[in-house]
Amino acid sequence: MLTALLRSLRTGVVTIRYPDEPAQPPERFRGAPRVRPRAVITALPPPSVCPSGAIVGGAGQSRYAIDRGRCLYCGRCAEASLDGAIELGRQVELSARKRESLVVEVAPDAEGRAVALPGPPRGEDVAEQIRRTLGRSLQLRHLDSGSCNACDWELTALLNPVYDVRRLGIDFVASPRHADGVIVTGPVTRNLELAVRRTYQAVPEPRVVIAVGGCACSGGIVGRSYASAGGVAEVLPVDAFIPGCPPRPEAIIFGILLAVGRVTERQP
Ligand code: SF4
Repeated sequence: MLTALLRSLRTGVVTIRYPDEPAQPPERFRGAPRVRPRAVITALPPPSVCPSGAIVGGAGQSRYAIDRGRCLYCGRCAEASLDGAIELGRQVELSARKRESLVVEVAPDAEGRAVALPGPPRGEDVAEQIRRTLGRSLQLRHLDSGSCNACDWELTALLNPVYDVRRLGIDFVASPRHADGVIVTGPVTRNLELAVRRTYQAVPEPRVVIAVGGCACSGGIVGRSYASAGGVAEVLPVDAFIPGCPPRPEAIIFGILLAVGRVTERQP
């Protein structure tokens, strides 16, 4: 007992202070790709470099877009671009209330350089109603609707002493009847589609739905097929989309807080 106490005193506090302090991703963190401002449009790689179909447009077209909700953060587009026209950012606060907000578009100006196009207007503030009803605490039922488990591991990390999401009044519960919402990982496989719908219906209203990871946001690399319904929004009304493959724990914390109106969107 004394040994354990001494060890914990020596270790000190390991819990991060996010969101009160900025997120500190590790040095080798690979974030979402972004087009460098004023990059030459012809230096951007073609959509064919992207394994998940997250890039649209390109040579001879009036627009070029990267869908962060479909992106795997693999970095191939950055490696294939000339003169660093695409770089991997370090921003983790990329969650959005609307799916379209995850699509970053650029168009060429008169000199053929990339200019960012304005994103869609912010979503209506249903978060305010949820916040009024639920206050600052939030109990979530985790649903794995067909994930590879990477996002599930990041969700599990939220409960460890480093991220300790309970300090923010957020916790995970075993039954949807005890929950304020569902947090879903993976594309919605056809085999689990009914279970996803029924779990959602078992949550008392008002209820939040949070999609975690590229597959939950868009279907990801799995897409839509005879075996997969695609992203969670194909099945449930999603309140927050958290992109990433997988998203870091801080990114998930940000998305959860966004869903209940405790933070606002910060699309870079
Ligand atoms: S980083 Fe994203 S957009 Fe770029 S090639 Fe990989 S999956 Fe496609």
